[in-house]
Amino acid sequence: MKILLATRNAGKVSEMRSLLSDLPVELISALDLDDPPDVEEDADTLEGNARKKADVLHAYSGLPALADDTGLEVDRLEGRPGVRSARYAGPKADDAANRRKLLDELDGAGDRAARFRTVIAFVDRAGVHQFEGICRGRIIDEERGTGGFGYDSIFVPEDADRTFAELSADEKNEVSHRGRALRLLADYLRDRLE
Ligand code: IMP
Repeated sequence: MKILLATRNAGKVSEMRSLLSDLPVELISALDLDDPPDVEEDADTLEGNARKKADVLHAYSGLPALADDTGLEVDRLEGRPGVRSARYAGPKADDAANRRKLLDELDGAGDRAARFRTVIAFVDRAGVHQFEGICRGRIIDEERGTGGFGYDSIFVPEDADRTFAELSADEKNEVSHRGRALRLLADYLRDRLE
């Protein structure tokens, strides 16, 4: 089965390839297409954005298409930054500015519970299937660790004392939102291909 991954992020492509490596699927990505359509991530849910990206790429290519969207949902902030995690501190904000804004908002807060949530949408002629992965944890009050990206250096997963930025990639994948959603997707594809 040939599947089109709706991303231009080479890191995501290699992560996905390694997770699906024992399945008879060939993964190509928007990086392999001549002129892939741009998709504006303007839905107000992670589900909506993932679905939109996969729908557009499926319609464009005729191939089964996969897309994901991730957000950090903080209890005390009623789920923010959520679907706006990438642009939390403004339309051109970088990761450091987003982390700073979140730390400022939680300054002095007792309740620092949060979760990462990833939604993956798989769209083919039969319709859409969605998979959700959640990793609960907490936001600490200063940055720790140099690995990872995004909010990794301020997030400690449940039952751990190191931040995501202090874990190896394999350690993070074992418990992470994206690892969990990807394993559900791999189970689904394995069943379908058997
Ligand atoms: P995307 O949907 O993967 O593009 O992620 C949206 C935003 O969430 C990114 O800009 C990151 O800031 C953040 N994010 C996504 N996944 C992670 C993660 O595993 N660790 C830390 N931050 C993440």
